[in-house]
Amino acid sequence: METENVSIMLGLETAYALLYWKYSSKMIKLLVPISRFDKDSYIPYEKLQNNLKVVKKRLNRPLTLSEKILYSHLDDPNNQDIIRGQSYLRLRPDRVGMQDALAQMVMFQFIASGLSKVAVPATIHCDHLIEAQIDGVKDLARAIDINKEVYSFLNRWRLSEPGSIAIVVSPDIEELMATSVYTPAENLRAVTIISSPNRIILENYAFPGVLLVGTDSHTVNGGGLGGLCIGVGGADAVDVLADIPWELKCPNVIGVHLTGRLSGWTSPKDVILKVTDILTVKGGTGAIVEYFGPGVDSISCTGMGTICNMGAEVGATTSVFPYNSRMRDYLKATNRKEIADYADQTPELLSADSGAKYDHVIEINLSELEPHVNGPFTPDLSHPISKLAQNAKSNDYPIDLKVGLIGSCTNSSYEDMSRAVSIAKQAMKHGLKSKSIFTVTPGSEQIRATIERDGQAEQFRQFGAVVLANACGPCIGQWDRQDVKKGVKNSIISSFNRNFTARNDTNPATHHFLASPELVTALSIAGRLDFNPLTDELTGADGKKFKLEEPSGDELPSRGFDLGENTYQPPPSHGSDVTITVSPTSDRLQLLTPFNKWDGKDLTDMVVLIKVKGKCTTDHISYAGPWLKYRGHLDNISNNMFIGNRVFIQQKPPNKSRFRRIRLDCNELNNCTHYKKIFILLSSLVIIVLILGIGCYDKSAENVNNDRNQTQTQTQTTTQMTNETQTETTIQTKIDRKPECKSHYYFLFVCIIAISVEIFTLLLYLFHLIETFYKIPWLLIETVYYTAWSLQFLVIGFWMSSVGKWFILTSILSFCSSFLCFILAIIKCKKYTSGEAAQANDRDPDGNRQRRDSPNYKFTKSKDKLKDKLDPEKSEDM
Ligand code: SF4
Repeated sequence: METENVSIMLGLETAYALLYWKYSSKMIKLLVPISRFDKDSYIPYEKLQNNLKVVKKRLNRPLTLSEKILYSHLDDPNNQDIIRGQSYLRLRPDRVGMQDALAQMVMFQFIASGLSKVAVPATIHCDHLIEAQIDGVKDLARAIDINKEVYSFLNRWRLSEPGSIAIVVSPDIEELMATSVYTPAENLRAVTIISSPNRIILENYAFPGVLLVGTDSHTVNGGGLGGLCIGVGGADAVDVLADIPWELKCPNVIGVHLTGRLSGWTSPKDVILKVTDILTVKGGTGAIVEYFGPGVDSISCTGMGTICNMGAEVGATTSVFPYNSRMRDYLKATNRKEIADYADQTPELLSADSGAKYDHVIEINLSELEPHVNGPFTPDLSHPISKLAQNAKSNDYPIDLKVGLIGSCTNSSYEDMSRAVSIAKQAMKHGLKSKSIFTVTPGSEQIRATIERDGQAEQFRQFGAVVLANACGPCIGQWDRQDVKKGVKNSIISSFNRNFTARNDTNPATHHFLASPELVTALSIAGRLDFNPLTDELTGADGKKFKLEEPSGDELPSRGFDLGENTYQPPPSHGSDVTITVSPTSDRLQLLTPFNKWDGKDLTDMVVLIKVKGKCTTDHISYAGPWLKYRGHLDNISNNMFIGNRVFIQQKPPNKSRFRRIRLDCNELNNCTHYKKIFILLSSLVIIVLILGIGCYDKSAENVNNDRNQTQTQTQTTTQMTNETQTETTIQTKIDRKPECKSHYYFLFVCIIAISVEIFTLLLYLFHLIETFYKIPWLLIETVYYTAWSLQFLVIGFWMSSVGKWFILTSILSFCSSFLCFILAIIKCKKYTSGEAAQANDRDPDGNRQRRDSPNYKFTKSKDKLKDKLDPEKSEDM
C-alpha cells in the first residue's frame, strides 16, 4: 500500500514538474509588469506576436524591426491597409509620457472629454518649468514657488483605478499642496518625479518592442531600448488616453548600417551628428531610422538612447536599435531583469528579418568616424573636429567659448558623465579648470544621486562647474543667462540636441555648437572653438604643455544606480471624488470648453492655415523659453503662436491659384501681448480723459449758462439803473466771455492730450507690430476704430462750432493719421502678397536674416543644394 502511495505521489509530482516546465515560462511571461511602477499592467508580447503573425501572413515578406513593432500594435491587424508612406495606420500604443508644460493642456482636453479614466498607463514629468539660474537646489525651490499653481493643478489630476496617470513634481510639492488654493481632495497623494522626461523614459518606461507616445519630441530616446517611442502633440496623447486608436501615416524605413567599432574620442553622439549631416534636418521626415549591423554591439544602451534622441533633429518619426546584450545589461542595472528575461525569449519580435528591405541605407564605419561638432544655428551643419578650426575661421564664428554645457536628456548617462569627468580630472591634475563657464545638467534624479554618490558631481564642481537641477533648464531656454547681453555675438558649446537660433538663451547672436560631453569638456578647458584635443596641446598651471588622453569611463555604475529621492508616487486607487478647480483669473491655467458633439459630417473646403518652408521645429510653432509658463492657458499661449522665429508662411486657399505670403518676424516681439495691453490701457485712458473732458465741458457750459442767467438777472436789475448803461454792457461782456473762453481752452487741452495719446499708440503699432501675423487684422480693426473716432470728433466739432478752429484742426489731423495707417496697411499687405518683402529682407529659406556676401551665406546655400540632392524626401519648393 505504502509503495503504491509513493508511486502515485512520484507520478503526480513528475507530471506537475513536467507541466510546470512546459507552462511556467509562459505564465511568468504573462505577468511581467510593463514597468516597475505599473504592477497591474503587463508586457503584451504574446498579443504582439499574435498580431505580427497575422500581418506577416498578409504581407508575406521579411519585415524590418520598426515594421514589426508598429504593425504588431495595429488596432485591426486583419484588415488594416499597410503601404509604407501611404496608408494611415490605426495603432494602440502601450503607454503615454508627458512633460509638465504640455501635460497641462492634455489634462484640460481630457477633462473636456468627460471620461473618468485613462486607457493606458501614463506619467507626467515635471522638468520643463525649472529655470536654470544659480544651482540645482536653489533653482528647484524657485521653480516650485513660481509654478506652484501649475504643480498644484497637476497634483490634483487624479484618475481612478490602476493604470491611470502618475503625476510628477518635486519632493516639496506635498508640502505645497497643504497650502494650495485648490480644493483639497481626500486621500490625495502627490506623485512626484523631477527629471528630464526622456531619460526617465529610458530608465523606467521604455522596453524592447514597446510603442510609447510622449508629448515631447525627444521621447524618441526610448529607441535605445529597442522600442518605438514617438513624440506627439497633446491632442494625439489625449486620443490614446481616451482609448481612441492613434493614427500615424505608415512610415518609410531608413536603415543605418553600422560597421566597425566606436573607440577613443569618438562617441555615440558622433554617430548621430554624422547621420544628421547626411540626412539634414528634414531627411528623416515621414520615416523611422533603424540601426543595424555589427557596429551596433559596440554602443552602450544609453549611447543608443543618445543616437535615437537626436533622431528628432532629422525629422524622423522615431529611431530604433535591435534588442541586444547591451540593452539586457541596462535593463538589469535599472531593476528590470524580468523584462530582459522576457525579451530574451522573444527574439522574433525584437529584431529585423533577414532580407528586410529599407527605403534608403546609410553606411557608417564606426572605426573611421571622427568626432564631430555641429552648428551653429542648425544641428545638421557638421564639422569633423579636424576641420572645425578652419571652418570657424572662414565662417567668422566667435572663437572664444563663453559657456560649455553638458547633460540634458540627450547626453547625461552615467557613461557620459564618467567620460567627461575623466577629461576634467586630467585638466585639474595640471592645475587647470574650465576656462569657459561650465554647467552640468543631470538627466534624471537617478543620475544626479548616482554621480553625487560616486563623486563625479563633486569633481565637476572642483573643475569649476555648476551642477544644475536635473531638469531641462538651458536646453529648453529656461536659462537666466547673465554673462552675455542679448544681441552680443558669442559662442557656446553643449551636448544637447538642438541649437536653433535663440533656443537656449533667447539671444539670436549666440552661436551654439553641439558635441559629445567629453568634447564639450575638452573645448571648455581650452575655452576656444578651434581647439582639437586629438592633436593640440594645453598649457598647465606650471607652464608645461600636455595633451589630453582619450576619455574613459564606466558604462554602468559598479555599485548599481542610486535611485535618489523617492520622486514617484502612484496614482490613487480611487480618485473619483477629486475636485479640480481652476481660478478664472489665472494667467497660467484655463479650463477648456468642450467641442460640440460631431454631427457626422466631415469638414470640407477648409483653408490651410500655415505651410512652412525650411527648418521648422516646435520652437517655431510655439516658442518655449519665457512662453513655457503659459502652456496651460489657451488664450495666453495663443499669443505665442508662430512667433518663435522668423518663418515664411505661404497660405494657399484650396482650389485657388492665388497665393498669399505673409512674413512673420516677431523674434523680438515675444512680448507683443504687452503691446496689446499697452494699447488697450492707453485707449482706455484716452476714453476716460475724453469723458472727463466732455463732462468738464458740460459742467463749464452749465456754469456759463448759470453765469448767463445770473448776468441776465443782473442785466435786468441794472437796466433799471438809469445812469450806468454803458458800464452794465461792459460787465455783461466780461462775464459772458470768461466762462466760454475757459471751457474752450480746457476742452482743447483735453483733446490735444487725447489725440497725442492716440497718435503715440498708432506709432507704437506702426513701428512694432507692422510685421506680425496679428498685425494686419488688428491694424484694419484699429483703423476703422480710429476713423470712426475721428469722424466723431469732426461731427462734434462742427456741431459745437463755438469750440473753435483748433478743435476741428486736431480732428482732421487725427483722421489723416488714421487714414495714413489704413493706406500703410494696404501697402504692406500687397507687398507680402507678392513676396517682395521676403526678397527685400534677404532672408534665407529658414527665415534667418543673412548677408549675401558672408561666407556663411554661400556655404549654407551650397550645402543645402548638396543635401537636397541626397534627400529622397525633398519636399516641394514653395
Ligand atoms: Fe527636451 Fe532638452 Fe528637456 Fe530633453 S532636456 S526633454 S531635449 S528640453
